[in-house]
Amino acid sequence: MENFSYSRPATLKEATAQLGKEHGKIAIMAGGTDIYGGEMKDNLLAPERLVHIKHLKELQGIRQGTGSLRIGASTLLSDIVESPVVQKQAPLLAMAAGKIGTLQIRNMGTLGGNLCQRPRCWYYRNNYPCYKHGGNACFSAIGENDQHAILLGGPSFIVHPSDSAPALVALGASARIVSGTGERTVPLDKFFVTPRENVRRENVLLPNEILAEIDVPNAPAGSKAIYVKEMVREVWDFALCSVAAMVTLKDGVVQDARIVLGGVAPVPYRAVKAEAALKGKTLDEASATAAGLAAVDGARPLSKNAYKIPLTQAVVKRALLSLA
Ligand SMILES: Cc1cc2nc3c(=O)[nH]c(=O)nc-3n(C[C@H](O)[C@H](O)[C@H](O)COP(=O)(O)OP(=O)(O)OC[C@H]3O[C@@H](n4cnc5c(N)ncnc54)[C@H](O)[C@@H]3O)c2cc1C
Repeated sequence: MENFSYSRPATLKEATAQLGKEHGKIAIMAGGTDIYGGEMKDNLLAPERLVHIKHLKELQGIRQGTGSLRIGASTLLSDIVESPVVQKQAPLLAMAAGKIGTLQIRNMGTLGGNLCQRPRCWYYRNNYPCYKHGGNACFSAIGENDQHAILLGGPSFIVHPSDSAPALVALGASARIVSGTGERTVPLDKFFVTPRENVRRENVLLPNEILAEIDVPNAPAGSKAIYVKEMVREVWDFALCSVAAMVTLKDGVVQDARIVLGGVAPVPYRAVKAEAALKGKTLDEASATAAGLAAVDGARPLSKNAYKIPLTQAVVKRALLSLA
């Protein structure tokens, strides 16, 4: 690891004042489980300075807003899992956060860090000169691609690794982003960017911006939700495929549905065709099967990951039937 300087600002204002104009030179650290424990130790990133933000009061805690929960970006994942208010008002988020890594990771890792973590692609993590590192190739396109994208891939075929992200997109959450010159709010389904939009980054954050807070609308009255995740190993692993599903039923008929996939695309993937296939239908074997098929409509598998298509269909169907 290269030498670097470390700063521990006292306020959010002080933290944003320390950020620069270029990604990578001055880096933000929250829990450090990815940026420090992964990126820097594996020499993927060598910032001149690390700005620590985990302790900042302005970024911590779970507050009740009007019709929503406001969760500070530096809130621990384990606090989210255990929060009675999250379990009541946004159970989908509590479920998804509970599927992240291990208890140790959830005790160190923060919500902001989970949303902003870098891809787990083995070529990226082994420092191949790929698009993500400023090169001009995606080695997975013709290489070992069994865990890569089947939807929205190209030119890079990473999948987004976060478990909290599909749940938050399904819940219609938004991100409050702060810089030294002001703040902006971005709906979470616009926060993540595909490789076609920006092949180097996975979200819209500028180098001088900090993700401050996530606003999570209360789950609609009468809705039911579930997060299902398929992994190679149950003990801990990133999703091969996951689904955050939320439905509102009236007399067994679907009034509204939100279905967001993880582990299959470079961004949390909102399966709008699956949602449309469900609306107005009785939630049963036939409609859940149809939604599973619709969820992967347009999928373009690589040489070794076609198995993700039936896997995703089955996971969507299983998730929906559990809500019937
Ligand atoms: C063994 C292991 C297993 C894991 N399994 C899973 C899993 O199953 N599912 C899953 O979703 N994740 C998993 N992870 C990833 C883990 O959840 C993340 O590493 C963790 O959530 C990151 O949080 P952090 O606070 O440590 O972030 P950091 O490591 O401090 O930061 C991560 C990235 O986010 C940026 N960042 C952090 N906070 C902010 C902010 N407020 N504003 C702007 N940028 C910010 C940093 O600059 C950095 O690029 C696993 C990690 C490990 C090591």
